[in-house]
Amino acid sequence: MTFSGLVESARSRVDDFRALRDRGLIHKTGTFFPAGIHYPPITMYPPIDGEQFLEGWEDPDDGRYVFYLHVPFCQKQCTFCHYPIVTGTSEEVQERVVDMLGREMDLWLQKLGLDRIRARSVLVGGGTPTHLSPRLFKELHEQIARRVDLSGCAQLTYDVHPDDLVGDVGRERLRIMRDYGSNRLTLGLQETHEAILKHMNRPPSYALAQEAMAACRAAGFDDLNIEFIYGYPGQTLESWHETLCRAVELDAEEIQFYRLKIQHYGQGEGPVEALYDRAPERFTPNETQILMKQMAIEYVNEHGYRENLVRVFTKEPKWTSAYTTDQCCRLLDTIGVGPSAFCSFRDRFCIAEPDVNAWSAQVEAGRLPVYRGMVRDRDAQLRWNLVLPLKNSEVYKDFYEERTGERVEVVFGRELAILESHGLLTQDDVQVRLTRKGRFFADEICTQLGHPDFLPHPMDGFEDGPLKLVAGVGA
Ligand code: SF4
Repeated sequence: MTFSGLVESARSRVDDFRALRDRGLIHKTGTFFPAGIHYPPITMYPPIDGEQFLEGWEDPDDGRYVFYLHVPFCQKQCTFCHYPIVTGTSEEVQERVVDMLGREMDLWLQKLGLDRIRARSVLVGGGTPTHLSPRLFKELHEQIARRVDLSGCAQLTYDVHPDDLVGDVGRERLRIMRDYGSNRLTLGLQETHEAILKHMNRPPSYALAQEAMAACRAAGFDDLNIEFIYGYPGQTLESWHETLCRAVELDAEEIQFYRLKIQHYGQGEGPVEALYDRAPERFTPNETQILMKQMAIEYVNEHGYRENLVRVFTKEPKWTSAYTTDQCCRLLDTIGVGPSAFCSFRDRFCIAEPDVNAWSAQVEAGRLPVYRGMVRDRDAQLRWNLVLPLKNSEVYKDFYEERTGERVEVVFGRELAILESHGLLTQDDVQVRLTRKGRFFADEICTQLGHPDFLPHPMDGFEDGPLKLVAGVGA
C-alpha cells in the first residue's frame, strides 16, 4: 500500500476513537494507562514488607516460576523513559549491585524454601543489562546460573541496547549471552531518524541499529524482537512511514510498537513530562498518534506479521514472548529480583524498593526488599484474572473458572455485553476476546474494568457512558 493509501485507510480508526470517546468508553483527552501487566495499577499498591507478602504463600504445584531480573544501569536517560534507572555509575558500584542481585536471589530461595528457582521462562531487563562491562556481564550470568535452573526454560530473553552490541566488546557480550543459554533478544531501537534519536538522547544512528542486528545474527540469535515508539515530538506521518519500512527491512522475528506515554505510570518519572509541560505544542496530537498506530498495524500485516499478543507482531506464533505469555496471559507465578522488580503470584503482587541504595541496604540486612504490594481480595482477584489476559490476548472461560471458581460471563455479564454491543469484544462458549477494534483500544477499555477505587483516571474524565453506569459512579 502507498503512503497516502495507508493514511487514508487508517482514518477509520480516528472515527472509532471519536465515537468511543463520546460514548464514555475512552478518556475525554484520549489519555491511557498501560493495563496489561498489573491490576490494580502499579502506583496504587500500599506499603508492605517481605513477611507480609509471603504470609501463607504456597509454591505452585509443579514448583516452577517465571523469573525476571532487573539491572538498573543505563548509559544515559532517554527522554521518553519512565523506568527508574541510574546513570553514570562506576564499575565498582555496578559490581556491588551485581553481587547484591545474587544475594537477593538467595533471600528468595531461602524464604521460599527452594534450592534453585526452576524457571519456565526468563527475562533479564532493566535498565540495560548490556551496559555492564563484559567482565561484570559474565559475573551476572554466573550469579543467575548458580541459582536458576534453566533446564526447563522455554526462553531466556535479554533486553539489549544496540550501542552495546557492536565492535569487539559487543561481540563479547553477545558470545556471553549465547554461552549461558540466551535464545532471544529484545532490541530497543525506538526510532530511525537522526534528529529524533538525538532528541530522545539515544545514539543518533539508524546504521547502528542495522549493525547491531547483523551482529546478533552473526552470534547465532534467530529470535530478535525490535521495539519502536510512536507519538514522539518531531515524528510526522511521513517519517513514521519511513520508520515502518525500515523496521520491516530489519527482518526481525517480532516487532513491537509503543505509544509515547507522557505521564509516568510506575516507579519512575522520565524527562518527557517536564518537556511536555514546557512545550505541549511540540507533541504529536492524539488523533495523529491513532493514525500512526493503525498505519503500523496495516503495514506490518501487509508484510506477514500477525498480532499474536496485543500490539506485538510476530512472523510466526512460535516467536511470541514466552515471558509475556506466561506472566500476562497464563498468569503464572513470577519472581522478580532487583530494584523496582515486581513479583506477581497467583493471589498477590509486590514491587521492590526502586531506589538502588535503599534496595541494596535491605538486601544487605537480609530482608527481602519488598516495597509496596498486596494480597489481592476477592474483587481484585476476579478483575485481575479478567483484565490481564483480555488486554494481552483472550480469556478462556474454563481457565477463569478454574482460577476463581466463577464463570466470567456471569461475574462480568453486563460489562461484556456492553463491550460486545459496541463491537469491541466477542465471546463464545470457550473464550472472550477483543475484536480488532477492541484490541486497538485495549488499554483504554480494560482500564475501565477495574474497581472504581483503582481507576488510574478519575471517572469525571470520561463522558457519561455505559461502563460508568456499571461501575456505579456515573450519571
Ligand atoms: S529506554 Fe532503555 S536505555 Fe533508555 S533510559 Fe530507559 S531503560 Fe535505559
